Amino acid sequence: MAIYEGRTGDWGIVVGLEVHAQITSASKLFSGSSAAFGAEANTQVSMVDSAMPGMLPVCNAYCIEQALRTGLALGAQINLRSVFARKNYFYADLPQGYQISQYDQPIVGEGAIEVDLPDGSTKTIRIERLHVEQDAGKSLHDQHPTKTYIDLNRSGVALMEIVSKPDIRSPEEAAAYVKKLRTILRYVGTCDGNMEEGSMRCDINVSVRRPDAEFGTRCEIKNVNSVRHVFQVIEFEARRQIALIEDGGEVVQETRLWDTKKGETRAMRSKENAHDYRYFPDPDLPPLMLSEGFVENIRKSLPELPDAKKQRFMADYGLSAYDATILISEQARADFYEELAKGRDFKLCANWFITELLGALNKSGKDIGDSPISADQLGDLVDLMSNDTISGRIAKDVFALMLETGKTAGVIVEEKGLRQVTDTGALEAVIDEVMAQQADKVAEYRSGKDKLFGFFVGQVMKASGGKANPGMLNDLLKKKLAP
Ligand code: ADP
Ligand code: MG
Repeated sequence: MAIYEGRTGDWGIVVGLEVHAQITSASKLFSGSSAAFGAEANTQVSMVDSAMPGMLPVCNAYCIEQALRTGLALGAQINLRSVFARKNYFYADLPQGYQISQYDQPIVGEGAIEVDLPDGSTKTIRIERLHVEQDAGKSLHDQHPTKTYIDLNRSGVALMEIVSKPDIRSPEEAAAYVKKLRTILRYVGTCDGNMEEGSMRCDINVSVRRPDAEFGTRCEIKNVNSVRHVFQVIEFEARRQIALIEDGGEVVQETRLWDTKKGETRAMRSKENAHDYRYFPDPDLPPLMLSEGFVENIRKSLPELPDAKKQRFMADYGLSAYDATILISEQARADFYEELAKGRDFKLCANWFITELLGALNKSGKDIGDSPISADQLGDLVDLMSNDTISGRIAKDVFALMLETGKTAGVIVEEKGLRQVTDTGALEAVIDEVMAQQADKVAEYRSGKDKLFGFFVGQVMKASGGKANPGMLNDLLKKKLAP
């Protein structure tokens, strides 16, 4: 739980998230138009999507399957009977004048997500429900100086709205929740989780209260589209509400917008209540009835889920919760690691994969899917360390060259002559040379200045071009320096 210090004492925050996730599907929720991203405006619009009179929606079974798959992955209650409802509102990019959504009878009920916090601990955030609904079109305000254009490509695309209970107590927890949810959706292939393209966006509900007091009045911040912004929005909004109350004001329930440029939230409209939308069951669509068998078949087809994988990685590979969380956060990462770790030192592999490879990829904004180094190739490098051909120090140089040149570790080690010096005679020669150059330091050492040992190690290592086997170097040096 995060504590916010105010002028008049401590405050806590309460947060609940509504995540809109675009369902991965070739076609839209109630029409056969393509749901692909990035097409030329208004090229993927059927009569249904543009709400021509008399057109009737036909439910896309695959989208329903995807919603169920998600619900099952969230360990949630599946409702065998659910109802599509019209949510009425006027907007220029909503040609129907209503959105087909689900209201009091959603397809998925209560569930929970185990989120992984930065300190390695976990927390359960409960899910209120998941329902299926249509996306609206898009108003384009930047195409013409005086006109707004409408692009209906997105109109009718299938979304899942996943609503959390107000269980989140800090920006870190909210960020962890979004990340974990995205990981789960990607594992089961129901949403690509691409927040930049808008296929996952969140509405963030924030309220403040004295620690452990009753919940305060919430504000909802719409359409936040990155994990970083989730964090910033909550920080900003918490402080805004605290300052407002401390100055004698009152938080009013309203919908706010996040201004990414200014880094602040701004009032957009006072919050509508459910009754303002005049929800009613859509007369064009019968209730959605599912059979137990249909649901069971989907349950059986689920892959190993992130939490199960995390537990297995900790148990089978002896990894910390922290490392395991990073490795399982993407299916491709987990697969890469398992390939790499086969028959090798698990911990060494985890370190090299996470710190070096992911670290390097991250610097250029990439992830494991773009890795120029395969699991086998990184494995070769790990093997060279394990069989003492090169030290960990030299391995870092080899790794940098692998990234730069695309050559294999073995080739680089041979070409650059980086094999570790494990030949006693050769090492002794280097030590003798260093001792001859540092005769006065040798004398000091022998007269009791033990601390100089590290200095000699450094000098010999340097003289060997970093190639001395560290263990051997230590032993030989001790012997040679002994008075
Ligand atoms: P609405 O349709 O008005 O947005 P929902 O029930 O769909 O209402 O969603 C409300 C969201 O707000 C949920 O995620 C819930 O957890 C969250 N929430 C409810 N009460 C509070 C509160 N006092 N402070 C913060 N979040 C809240
Ligand atoms: Mg809502």
